[in-house]
Amino acid sequence: MAQEMRSPIESGCPDGFQYMHPVMRRNYGQWAYHEDPQPGVLLHVAHSGDKIWTVRAGTQRILDLFTLRELCDIGDKYGDGYIHFTIRSNIEYLVADESKVAPLIKALTDAGYIVGGTRNSVAMLSHTQGWLHCDIPGTDASGVVKSMMDELIDEFKGWNMPNRVHMTTSCCQINCGGQGDIAINVQHTKPPKINHDLVSNVCERPSVVARCPVAAIRPALVNGKPSLEVDEKKCICCGACYPPCPPMQINDAEHSKLSIWVGGNHSNARSKPTFQKLVASGIPNNPPRWPEATAVVKKILKTYKEDAKDWERINDWIERIGWPRFFEKTGLPFTKYHIDNWRGARASLNASTHIRF
Ligand code: SF4
Ligand code: SF4
Repeated sequence: MAQEMRSPIESGCPDGFQYMHPVMRRNYGQWAYHEDPQPGVLLHVAHSGDKIWTVRAGTQRILDLFTLRELCDIGDKYGDGYIHFTIRSNIEYLVADESKVAPLIKALTDAGYIVGGTRNSVAMLSHTQGWLHCDIPGTDASGVVKSMMDELIDEFKGWNMPNRVHMTTSCCQINCGGQGDIAINVQHTKPPKINHDLVSNVCERPSVVARCPVAAIRPALVNGKPSLEVDEKKCICCGACYPPCPPMQINDAEHSKLSIWVGGNHSNARSKPTFQKLVASGIPNNPPRWPEATAVVKKILKTYKEDAKDWERINDWIERIGWPRFFEKTGLPFTKYHIDNWRGARASLNASTHIRF
């Protein structure tokens, strides 16, 4: 007799409504307006007259169990028992009673958490976390976040920037993360080194060849074994070949650097998207505190704070003053490496999914 089929195991996201604060559930889609009563606190008012306060504190993206338990205990004791996390790794507590806000902030502050990150502050850096779950990171993005945010606590806690600042880091040069008002991205500066003994065992060569955006990889026979070769004159050191072919190692303690890009912004109801531009390159990838990268970010933030008009985002500010003035005012050197002189795109950029040999 045929066995009864087992039912599928649902492993997607559970329905979020069951975890929502009852005031949020009741007024879903029915909010009249919101206010910012103080740094780190939001007040949302519904058409029904219901009000809900949100208290936001910065946390790291990957939380250990003990920290999570502590944060949840604070929520049970001082809040209404409802939390959620923002995309920038902030924890948010929801309370329907204004008198709970001050004790909640005190409890968080006493436990060492920083309340802030709303309105015209420097929000928590969003970051990818390659060391824990990915196969291609060139740096520890969360370490960069920790080092920078330690030095930007006042900008996180207060409302002392012209507008909000969203910063991002990424732990490789090609994939997730890395787009914001200020982005700290990995920058490889040398082509990959190929371990020819391993290529034929580990890599699907056509996939690797197809992966290169500038068609710099060719199949080759090395020491009688099928392998690959890289035309180093064409290679733009992007690192895209490393994920499908780990023997094409590109991460390097000395030659994998950090670069800083500014002015990226998503489109919104009023403006078009803006694309970030490179402003500092070749910055040492220098754990555990990344002092050189932090110094550049602080320099950009200080200049923006002093020079931008109220409510100008970084891209608005640069558009008003112009890029030459940006480099003059921040004191960042403008070098030939800032000029995008790539002319080969039309002829050789891999713009289709066809495999070339
Ligand atoms: S940025 Fe790159 S290395 Fe980091 S998690 Fe994303 S894909 Fe992986
Ligand atoms: S994928 Fe990127 S790093 Fe690899 S060979 Fe092509 S350009 Fe160079």
